[in-house]
Amino acid sequence: MAKGKIYILGLVAGIACLLSACSGKKQTGPERPAFSADSAYSYIEQQMAFGPRVPNSSAHSACAVWLIQQLRAFGAEVELQKGEMPDYSGRNQQIYNIIGHFYTVETMNRPRILLGAHYDTRPWCDEEEEYTDRYYNVPGANDGASGVGVLLEVARQVGQRLNDSALATPVDIIFFDCEDMGTPQFYTGTERENTWCLGSQLWATNYSRQKQGAKYKFGVVLDMVGAPDAVFPKEMYSSQYAENYQQQIWHAAEQLGYGARFSNQQAYPIVDDHYYVNVLAGIPCVDIIHYEIRNATGFPHWWHTREDDLTNISKPTLQAVGEVVMSQL
Ligand SMILES: [Zn+2]
Repeated sequence: MAKGKIYILGLVAGIACLLSACSGKKQTGPERPAFSADSAYSYIEQQMAFGPRVPNSSAHSACAVWLIQQLRAFGAEVELQKGEMPDYSGRNQQIYNIIGHFYTVETMNRPRILLGAHYDTRPWCDEEEEYTDRYYNVPGANDGASGVGVLLEVARQVGQRLNDSALATPVDIIFFDCEDMGTPQFYTGTERENTWCLGSQLWATNYSRQKQGAKYKFGVVLDMVGAPDAVFPKEMYSSQYAENYQQQIWHAAEQLGYGARFSNQQAYPIVDDHYYVNVLAGIPCVDIIHYEIRNATGFPHWWHTREDDLTNISKPTLQAVGEVVMSQL
């Protein structure tokens, strides 16, 4: 190569650098937030290794201990919120919500962002066709482990920002208990109200009673966020109570190239943990949930069946959801 050519190439590169203001950023699309789907996947595998995390089981308590250890290792101040709520049959159910607070001395009084997912798994596969299969526990790879897996990786990234003094907004990560204890379809007794989301009902009720304490800008709940074909239409309670934040999140997803997954279609209202955060705690909260408008149940075919296992978890989906959540912090 002749010298002249090198000079010209250098000049061209210099002009290109001036045009892009030498920012070092790619010219197209926004900066991609740091998030590792491999890491999120491994957190899902580790939850699955405990077995179904059904409340009152040893797998459930072992998983709770592990979640507390993980959050502490990432730099959170961890709070274990214990309480009781009546279940579908009226019996009192023990609840253990796990809350990781990420903040610095400078940021501790600023309004926080709340991120939530349930870590319990449903005791019954009551969507199974065979009657005898309905008494198995749901394995809960998607319905339970996926949201927690994504949030553990988010917690690891948030901990990194904390170390780098780069966490401007404090973040609370809540692993809600007993979300999936709602009345089983085969129950013949009197149906009670509000039997789903017992952990978030407990948390939101306590929050609304306190006079002082943390304030939140908004919240995001993840539920069933790992399937290869997952689509996240706009859930209706989120639109009703937290429309601006829902739009902000779906817009961020589109900017990141995930517009097809974060669909602009409207989903029916779904009673998930975000519902009680909205109505009982008064914090605008958005649900990111896999919903299939064309299915009779509204949910994927493996929902509340024995098929909700690791074969229905996909890293590209975890990556998409993780980046979208990280883009909001
Ligand atoms: Zn469920």
